[in-house]
Amino acid sequence: MLALGPYREGYSLRPNSRAAIERAPKNPIGVRDVVCTLEEARDMLAYFRSLADGLTMVGDVKAPACFRAFEKIRHALPTTGPLPKTRKKQCPRDGCNSTDVRPATPGVSAGFGGALPPALEEIWECAACQRPFLLTPSN
Ligand SMILES: [Zn+2]
Repeated sequence: MLALGPYREGYSLRPNSRAAIERAPKNPIGVRDVVCTLEEARDMLAYFRSLADGLTMVGDVKAPACFRAFEKIRHALPTTGPLPKTRKKQCPRDGCNSTDVRPATPGVSAGFGGALPPALEEIWECAACQRPFLLTPSN
C-alpha cells in the first residue's frame, strides 16, 4: 500500500497516521478498516487528495484507487458532514458569503472527466473560510 511506503517529510503520512493504518485489521480483500483520531483522518484526507491529484496528472493507474480512498475518508469524517449547497459561485456558509471561491480538486476532476458521467455537483472551496461546499451548476 502506497500510504505505508518509506516516510518522507511533507509527502508521506505522519507517523501516527501510518500507525493507525498499520494497526487496522485487513479484511479478506486486503482493505483495512482504519480506526483513528479526527486529526489522523484529516492528515490521511490531505494525503490521499494530493496523492490522487499527483497520480492523475501523470496518468497513473492507481489514481482512481487513491481518489476512492479520499472519498471514503471524506465521507467518514463527522465534522465534514453534508456540505452546504449553492447555485452561485459564492460561499454559502453563514456569515461568510465570500466570492473568492475555486474548484476544490481540479486535477482529479480533469483526470476523471472522460470516465465518469458529468458531475451534477462540484466540490468548491472558499478561500476566505477555507471550507468546502457543493456547487450545483444551473441548467
Ligand atoms: Zn467562506
